This record gives sequence, structure tokens and C-alpha cells, in this order.
Amino acid sequence: MKDFLNELDNELNWVENKTWDTNWNNSWEVKKEDINNSIKKEEKQQVETKKKQVSKKTNRNNQNKKRYDDSNNVMWKFVSRFPETKFYLPNLREGYTRYVPIWWNDETWAKNMGMVQYWDDIVLIDCGLQFASWNDMLWANYSIPDVSFLWKYKNNIKGFVVTHAHLDHIWALKHILPAIGMPTLYATKLTIGIIKKWLEEAGILSKMTLIEIDADDTTPIKIWAFDIEFFRVNHSVPDSAWLYIKSPGWVTFMHTWDFKIDLTPRIDKPADLARIWAFGEKGVTMLLSDSTWSIRKGHSKSEEEVWNALDEIVQKHTRWRLIVATFSSWISRVQQLIDSAERYDKTIFLSGRSMLENIAIAKELGYIKMKPGVVKKMTPKNTEWIPPHKQIIITTGSQWEEFSALSRMAEWRHNAVEILKGDTIIFSSSVVPWNEKSVVTIINKLIKLGATVITKDDWEFHTWGHAFQDEQKMMIKLAKPKYLMPIYWDLYFRHIHKQTAMSIWIKQENILLIDNGNIVDFAPKTWNVFKSRIKIPLKQIIIDWYGIWIADSHVIKAREKMMNAWVLVINYKVDKKTKAILWHLKVETRWLAHLEEVRYIHRMIIKKAKESYENTIKDVPDIEEKDLLKIIRTDLEQLILKRTDREPMIIPMITEV
Ligand SMILES: [Zn+2]
Repeated sequence: MKDFLNELDNELNWVENKTWDTNWNNSWEVKKEDINNSIKKEEKQQVETKKKQVSKKTNRNNQNKKRYDDSNNVMWKFVSRFPETKFYLPNLREGYTRYVPIWWNDETWAKNMGMVQYWDDIVLIDCGLQFASWNDMLWANYSIPDVSFLWKYKNNIKGFVVTHAHLDHIWALKHILPAIGMPTLYATKLTIGIIKKWLEEAGILSKMTLIEIDADDTTPIKIWAFDIEFFRVNHSVPDSAWLYIKSPGWVTFMHTWDFKIDLTPRIDKPADLARIWAFGEKGVTMLLSDSTWSIRKGHSKSEEEVWNALDEIVQKHTRWRLIVATFSSWISRVQQLIDSAERYDKTIFLSGRSMLENIAIAKELGYIKMKPGVVKKMTPKNTEWIPPHKQIIITTGSQWEEFSALSRMAEWRHNAVEILKGDTIIFSSSVVPWNEKSVVTIINKLIKLGATVITKDDWEFHTWGHAFQDEQKMMIKLAKPKYLMPIYWDLYFRHIHKQTAMSIWIKQENILLIDNGNIVDFAPKTWNVFKSRIKIPLKQIIIDWYGIWIADSHVIKAREKMMNAWVLVINYKVDKKTKAILWHLKVETRWLAHLEEVRYIHRMIIKKAKESYENTIKDVPDIEEKDLLKIIRTDLEQLILKRTDREPMIIPMITEV
């Protein structure tokens, strides 16, 4: 991976050695001038001032980012802060096989994690994050599954199997693996490649055993009691796999997690339908299947259709720059653009650390192919040397950064690209639902600057990574399971998945809609199902700059209080010897909104604060500062309570000069 990143760095040398092509250089200058003139002078000045302001802000953000990176390395040490729990898993009857959804329900982009158990042996499946929601995770970065109950079963955890490389399936590994004794992890080649990067950053890679699985290999892996087979599916990140898990009790789970069926994918082979049918013939006790797009009828669009649409626009786009915003894990989308760039003699510029790293891993492992020189790292220097109509800029972040780089481009505070009139921007990814408003804000800015904006709604540049109803049906028909457990997302989507399944012969009583932490046991041979009355008590665990917390703990409560807090700070500047007030008192309040109200109340506070200070000093000249502050605080509290019916936190401060 490092070789490829160095190779991209060397592209800078390529820029140094490049000779000018005067023809296009002139046209570039002229065009740039035209564009610049078209932006009103006034507007430009405003932007310049804004740029200065935001560059200060960016520096500050960079410092914060550094703090975050540093804290990332030590975060795994905080794992011991998972809440203590006295919970014990109920006894598993002899020969029975258990499935527990540790977490994946009732959340968007959930922190997915599941568990199978036979006798004492436990195997865990996936381990992701959930993007922080503002309401119940104040100031958090993200949340992770609560594995407190697993501590005491550390020695029983025989392995971790991972289906694909999305953050909502792998990110929490670095927090949770150390807490549960670093069990051996199994996944396909690309998934292992990406997991390795995160574990290395967290400083725990050397403690892990990672085993690479070929999803085409039909030999089951033996993880203690379980025989597990990985097999090919399609999704929005290459090398995604499903699992066929067999226990000695002859109970079998087909665990799909995120999937779609694409007969013409870009990087992967099509989903292995023949093998799914073969598993169906052998017998599937329960199919756990993706409900994300259960409301959509028909079959999801193939990557090939998207490629055709993208290829056409790359070919036709001969006037100005083409900028594509997508997720860094959507590696097939990048491959599609590389292919088109090679075909029409254009250059790809990659922006964003996560994108560069993911592409480097995919290239090293042979998932992505490119001719030398077609892909370059985006820097202010090397974009200048390519005519705009020959540039394809791929801007991205990880799933949670979303369109932050594009937003910086639109606000002219990106170090390499400023959006100009004539640019075309394609949004080629779906948006986390609660971010839709912020994406519209970016689109507004782009339109104002004169750019053409194409979103997933008005062109064919995007497909989803999840199955529609026809694919869900196909899966049920091929696997022929006794039970179906619709997984992922809110009950609403799982309920519709249930209806789809009932429309094709699955009995209502055989469809299990269950909650996070429910325990479901299956009898050997008969496959009778038993849902335990006991539920694992799971807490909302959040991660912020400082470590791991429970979302309903005192930390969140304190944060909530601070958000609603009313604060008054009053600053006295006084003479060291005479103690006389030297200058007007300074007051800051945080609970008043209307300007008139602020003025009126501030005047009142200053008058009272002055009186209180001067009278006390007069009465007790050698009073200790802490006592003096106490008196001022009490006087002001009484006044504010009487006049405004509020009880803010009051902080008087005395500076002697
Ligand atoms: Zn996924």
C-alpha cells in the first residue's frame, strides 16, 4: 500500500518535469479569466475575506484532528470501561444452537454484530459502528455494540467472522477485540486488507491472528464446534461474503447481512446463486436476510448500468471539469471512472486520505487495475498542468465524512480545487438520511457558483448496495429456509420484508422479528425454535475524544444540562492596593436571547455587581477573595431570580492589576 502512495507522491516529480503544452495552456488561461470575470468583484472580495476567516478555523480543525488521531491509538486501552454487568447467558440445552442479534435493529447504519453459540463455543459475526445521532449521543463521534456481557465468556469466544469492509461492520473491532481476548478473525482478502489498516492504526495488529478466506473455496472452515463457509455476494464494497454456518446439532444459518444480486458487477463476480441453491438443498434452518430496501419493488440496478451512464458523461464532457462525489469504500465506482478515463484520455485526481488508502489497498491486492499515470493524487500543483476538460476529480470521505471535501471546494477553502462556473458535479452515493439537509446546502452553494449538479435522483449514476424485493424473494426461493429472520433497520422495513416473504410461502409463524439482545435457540433435528424470555441488557455505548462511555451515564446527562444551562460570567478589574474597580465590569450571559432583554438585564446585573463588591469591601476591607466572591454570587442570584425567575450558574472573577 505504501508503495502505491509513494508512487502517487512521485507524480509530483512528473509535474516538475512536464513541458508546457502551449495550446491548451492558453485556452485554460482564457477560460479561467472568463470565469473569474463572471464572478462579480464584490462576490470575490467576500469570498476572500471568508477564506481568511475559515483558514484560521481550518488550522484549529487540523489541531483537533491530530488530537483525534492520537487518541485513536490509545482508545483500545479504554475498553475496560465497558459497563459492568451481572448478566449471564441462559443455559443452552444439550445439542441446541443459539443465535443472538447483539445489535443491528432499529437503527440506520447500525453497529452490526451477531453471535452464534453451540455448547460453550461462541463465534461472533461483524462488529461495526453507528454514526452518532445528535439527540441521544451528545458530542459523541460514534457508538459501538455493548459487549459487556461477553467479558466473562472471553475463553469461549472461538473466532470472529466478518462479512465485508464497511465501517458499520468492522470499525468497532479495534475497541472490542482487546476486551474479549483478541480471538482469531476470518474474512475475505480485501476485508482483511482494510481491517489490517485500522488495527495497525490502533496499535493492536501484532496481537491479532487474521485468516484470509477465499469465498470461492467450498471447504468449510472449522471454528471449534462450527463449520463455516464463506461464499460470494454483491454489495457496494468488493469481496463481500455471506456465511453458511453449521453446528454439530445440524442447525444451519445462512447469514447474509448486506447484499444485492448483481449479474454484471464491476469488480466482483456475480453472487454465487448455484451455491445458495446447493445450501438450500442440504437444508437451511434460518435465513437471516437484509431488509434495508424491502420497500423497493423489483430488482436493484446493476453496476454495469451505472458504468454505462458514467462512461457516456465522461465521453461527452469536453468543456470543463467533472467532479464525482462518492464513498471511499465504493471501489468499483472508482474502477469504472478509471476505465472511462483511460478510454477517453483523461486523468483521475483522487482526493481524501481514506480514498487514497482504500484504493492503495485494493490495488495492492489486485482488486483495482489502472495504467500508469492515469490516477494522480490531487494537489494544487498537479491539477494545474492538466486541461480542465481532461480532469476527473473523485472527491470522497469515508461514510461518515460524506461530502466534507466537496463542501470545502464549494466554499473555496479546499487546498486544490475551487468550484467554478462550468464544473459538473455528480453525487454518486446515497446519503445518510439525517445528512440530507446538509447535502442540499452544499448543492445550493454549487448552483450559486454556476456549477451543474447531478444527483442520484435525476440521473442514472448511482445504484444501491442492498437487495430490492425481487432479490429478497430470490434468496428465499433458493435457500428454502424453515425460518426467516429479516435483519437490519427499523421494524417498519423488517415488517415489509416479512410481508414479501409471506407472499412466497414462508409461514407467518416462521418469520422472526426480534429485538437487539433477544436470544433464540434451535433444537437439533426438529429445528423447533425457542425464544428466551430473558433479554441481554444492552446499553448505548458511545465513543468520543476521551474514551468509551454509556450514553445514559452521567457524562451525557451533564452534557445535556450544559446545553440547557444558563450561565453568567462577570469580570472585575481592580486595583491591587486600593481594591477599587478600575474599569467597567464585563458581563457575559448565556440564556438571554432578545437584544433588548440582554441590554436591560446586563445593566441591572452590572449595577448590582458593583454595589455588592463596593459595599462588601467597604464593610470588610480585608475580606478573603473566596468569601467576597460568595457574597457577590448570592447577591446576584437573588436579583436574577427575582427579576427573571431564572437560576443561572454565576461565575464572578476578580483580576487585580
Ligand atoms: Zn455494507
